[in-house]
Amino acid sequence: MRATVLHAAGDVRIENVPDATLIEPTDALVVISRAAICGSDLWPYKTPEQADIGRRLGHEAVGVVEAIGAEVRTAKVGDLVVMPWAYSDGKCEFCHQGLQTSCVQGGVFGTDEVDGAQAEAVRVPHADGTLVVLPVDEDDALLPSLLTLSDVMGTGHYAALAANVADGKRVAIVGDGAVGLCGVIAARRLGAEQIIILGRHPDRTALARELGATDVVSERGEEAVERVRGLTDGFGVHSVLECVGLTDSMRTAIGIARPGGAVGRVGWPQYEIMPASQPAFFDNVTVSGGPAPIRAYIEELLPDVLQGRIEPGRVFDRIARLDDVPDGYRAMNDREAIKVMVRP
Ligand SMILES: [Zn+2]
Repeated sequence: MRATVLHAAGDVRIENVPDATLIEPTDALVVISRAAICGSDLWPYKTPEQADIGRRLGHEAVGVVEAIGAEVRTAKVGDLVVMPWAYSDGKCEFCHQGLQTSCVQGGVFGTDEVDGAQAEAVRVPHADGTLVVLPVDEDDALLPSLLTLSDVMGTGHYAALAANVADGKRVAIVGDGAVGLCGVIAARRLGAEQIIILGRHPDRTALARELGATDVVSERGEEAVERVRGLTDGFGVHSVLECVGLTDSMRTAIGIARPGGAVGRVGWPQYEIMPASQPAFFDNVTVSGGPAPIRAYIEELLPDVLQGRIEPGRVFDRIARLDDVPDGYRAMNDREAIKVMVRP
């Protein structure tokens, strides 16, 4: 079969690799209907560590179950399923508390442990704990939105929960990538009254407005903090979704939180020491978040997608066949595309 392999900085290739197969009795073999390129794939793409070289990338997909191990009970051959970016057994203490990313038997697709999903097929460990069966066909028009349940929509939702978004609150989203845009959807869904997006790409902030943002702030740094305060009676917002992960974006996120506010961070931190620790302390700002345990939210978000109340699939602005995946990486890295859907 064919799959995406990382060779060097800026160099991913589609190669022939051994077919994915069942290994454990708890595995499912899934033939990919749609996969996606993630903003987090761009970190190893741009600056791969030695361990990243040779990795088969991709951790977001919907597909059709082709085979199941002897112990799999929930998914049947022929089912259309969505896979979360991390697999989990659904049985351990952390799975039960909704923190499937810390599952004692869990792991992440596209790593040393399990191959990636930007491929023709993928082996899914712990299928019963990991996969969610979708009640539609493989060619359903909702597939792009359903695909976002494997990462970005769940991640935006988690950021909103971590930032304590609730009815009537003022919310800001730092970052206008796919996760930030899904954060806008999540904030509106949870009843936020004001939704400010901080971003500098006019096409993305325009989409953010369509998805529910009430204000756009394109300034950066101190100027952005001043603008947000100006939009919020001088105090800042109750909730900040930090969807970038850089020192400056985190500093801005804490700077625009009002006293007693909360920052939910889902941007993969590129800093070792948390910035703005003193402003966070003196304003009693809670900082929470982490890798989003999106498996905990698929069943909750699914009806909203199926009934058209949310349309997170709108974050995809390009479709690539497998052969075009390398150009998809380039386009996302150059900010030409928001998010690329892969259709093997
Ligand atoms: Zn577990």
